[in-house]
Formats: sequence, structure tokens, C-alpha cells
Amino acid sequence: MSQPILEVNHLSKRFRGLLAVNDLSFHVNKGEILGVIGPNGAGKSTTFNLITGVYSPDTGEVKLNGQNITGLSPNEICKKGLSRTFQVTRPFGDMTVLQNVMVGAFLNTPNPRRAEQQALEMVEFVGLGDKKHAVARTLSIIDQRRLEFARSLATEPALLLLDEALAGLNAMEVEEAIELIWKVKDAGVTLVVIEHVMKVINTISNRVVVLNFGAKLAEGVPKEVMNNSAVIEAYLGK
Ligand code: ADP
Ligand code: MG
Repeated sequence: MSQPILEVNHLSKRFRGLLAVNDLSFHVNKGEILGVIGPNGAGKSTTFNLITGVYSPDTGEVKLNGQNITGLSPNEICKKGLSRTFQVTRPFGDMTVLQNVMVGAFLNTPNPRRAEQQALEMVEFVGLGDKKHAVARTLSIIDQRRLEFARSLATEPALLLLDEALAGLNAMEVEEAIELIWKVKDAGVTLVVIEHVMKVINTISNRVVVLNFGAKLAEGVPKEVMNNSAVIEAYLGK
């Protein structure tokens, strides 16, 4: 088997008294969609923040294509091909859709014309072509999610982490978003998807990692994970 694109080894993070991530290890294979699920507060977003350099871990290491990236800044990590979306989208509200996406494109492309060209492609790709000159803060929720997606794709990631990218969408919009995720996967991007709608995870994930109280509760293909009694208990309570 080829080398995983991402390896997380014995990662821990404490916020004062709270162990938010507890000795967590998992890997992501090239080309797959890995789902990450777990109850609220399980440590999912913190795990993304540790992987992407937003926080530095208390223990453990993160490897991208076999290279240790622990402790690098978010920008350095992004330049190495690891991008992410935030659970709470944070566009530059006063800038247009295109300008927002150009911020992502500039990371790899110092040439403004090329950055704009690349940003335009991504804006079209996510279906915001008609709204490229709209001011970001006027967008609907699904369009804000699309923008967040385009902005991270514009950095040309090999690995993209989505943190509840489908939150707040209605059933039809979720279908559209899933199509978009598949399109990204087909373009050769590996994805890690945090999502709490089980049906979405079942539909799109090749494998699933379940977190509970910062630790890994279960791991496997969606079918086995959903039938795991510890997972059912964590979700339904005792
Ligand atoms: P999830 O994304 O699975 O809902 P989080 O990773 O956001 O969970 O949070 C895990 C735990 O860590 C929660 O109890 C949360 O309140 C806490 N936490 C997250 N970030 C911080 C922070 N910056 N400071 C203090 N506590 C935090
Ligand atoms: Mg979260």
C-alpha cells in the first residue's frame, strides 16, 4: 500500500483543564474521502486546527506525505498543499466573491493576472460564476459555503479538510454540495470531511473515524461504524 497522504500520531491538546484531543492517531489514504464524526465537543474542529497549524499540539505529530509538518504555521502548511474550510465561514465581507477567492489563489501564485484567472476558474467551478462581483456579505448561506470552498480550492490543495461545510443547508442544497465534493474528489483531491449528518457521511465516505471526548472511538467503513454499539451509545446516550 502506498504512503498515506496524512498521518496523525498520538496528537493531544489540552485547554486548561479540558483534554480536547486525547492521544489521537489516524491516517488518510490518497484519493479517499475520510469522514470524521462525533458528538458536539468531541474534538473534531480542534483536530483540524492542530493539523492545519492553527494550534500547536501538546503531544504528537502530523505528517503530510511523510514529512513532519507539526509546528509549521497555517500559511506554510497551506503552501504544502493542505487546505481547509472553517466551521464558521469567514469571508472578507466587504470584498467581492472574486476578490475573496483571489486571496486563496495568491498564496501559490504571486502573479496577479494568474491569480485572478485561477480564482475565476474556482468561482465557476463552485457555481458562483454569476455572482463573482457580488459583495461577500450579501451571499446566502449556500453561496457563502460555496465561496469558502472556492477560496480553499484556489490554494490548489492535494488534501482538503471540510469542517461541517454542509451545515445550515436544506436537503436540496445538501445534494448539490455532495455533487460538488465528488467533483473535487474526481479532480484528484483527497478529502477529510467533518459532518454530523450521518446520511451524508454514509453516502460520501470511504472510511469513517469516530471521535468521542477527544479520543478515537471507532474507525472503519461506514456500515461497520454505524453498527458499532459504542458509537450508537455515544450518539444516543445511555
Ligand atoms: P467539535 O468540533 O467536535 O464540536 P471542538 O474541537 O470544537 O469540538 O471542541 C472540543 C472541546 O474543546 C470543547 O469542549 C470546546 O469547548 C473546547 N475548546 C475548543 N477550542 C477551545 C479554545 N480555543 N479554548 C478553550 N476550549 C476550547
Ligand atoms: Mg466543530
